Amino acid sequence: MPLCFARASALALIIPALATPAQAADSGEVNVYSYRQPYLIEPLLKEFTDETGIKVNVIFAEKGLIERIQAEGRNSPADVLLTVDIGNLTQAKTAGIAQPIQSEAIDAAVPQAYRAKDDEWIGLTRRARVIYASKDRVKQDTITYEELADPKWRGKICTRSGQHPYNIALIASMIAAHGEEWTEEWLKGVKANLARKPAGNDRLQVKGVYAGECDLALGNTYYMGAMLNDEKEPEQKAWAESVNILFPNSADRGTHINVSGAVLAKHAPHKANAIKLVEFLASDKGQEMYAEVNYEYPVKEGVPASELVQSWSTFKADPISLEEIAGLRKTASELVDKVGFDDGPSS
Ligand code: FE
Repeated sequence: MPLCFARASALALIIPALATPAQAADSGEVNVYSYRQPYLIEPLLKEFTDETGIKVNVIFAEKGLIERIQAEGRNSPADVLLTVDIGNLTQAKTAGIAQPIQSEAIDAAVPQAYRAKDDEWIGLTRRARVIYASKDRVKQDTITYEELADPKWRGKICTRSGQHPYNIALIASMIAAHGEEWTEEWLKGVKANLARKPAGNDRLQVKGVYAGECDLALGNTYYMGAMLNDEKEPEQKAWAESVNILFPNSADRGTHINVSGAVLAKHAPHKANAIKLVEFLASDKGQEMYAEVNYEYPVKEGVPASELVQSWSTFKADPISLEEIAGLRKTASELVDKVGFDDGPSS
């Protein structure tokens, strides 16, 4: 996914540097496997080392880390897995590579809705799944997910694949709110309103609005910050400036929220240090850094979002627990296939 650019080929080069469990004992180290990108994670880890003196060894990869920890088994050097999306966090848990993180500091910092009941995964940042609406062509300033199926939006909606984990979690939240049968009809309606076959990432849907192909695009909030500030692709600024962010369902249950988070590896050789690291990531300082670097919303109450993010107005978050969303992901995925969502509007 677009948040992760580190190359898997780097794994082989970096893995041997990690201490094995036998060497580890209580050394002042901690080993991190990260799906999240270096530009975001490295400053956080540096700050942690500066504060605690604990050295952090990290490997970055786009995929395969959960499988790798599974294959390494008891000999895995992994202490902490950092990843995005309730889908990946749940996968880590069901793969049996997680153990509960017992920490009063984390319990106090992270609301129950954003961590597993047994604390086998901990949410660290929040992202809202919103509507990017054309400034020129969409005059309304509120919206609901429900109305995306209204025929008034025929041919106006762009989205990435219905099977992408971000959309699966959103659809799971619709099932939680309205039930499976209702959600199937809703999905058919949204499919009929698509401007084109679902493809590409969230940013390319906003590009679709900019190019006049659609009026509404589904996307996560932090991509607005990313598009406005992308030094490698400055043309994305114009895409971002062509849209307003609408936070759906502000008048009722609230906007769908997903998280990025951390998992404590089941056989973590530096368990105490690993817990200290997750405590740091959930602390005021860690939360502020996430908010500033990546335009995500803190999970910890009282820590402000970045100035840019605050400029998008406040919103109401759907209070449903991510654990409940996780339990409905499979049904959501089956519905996406059943209605042929990814075939696009005309099939
Ligand atoms: Fe993303």
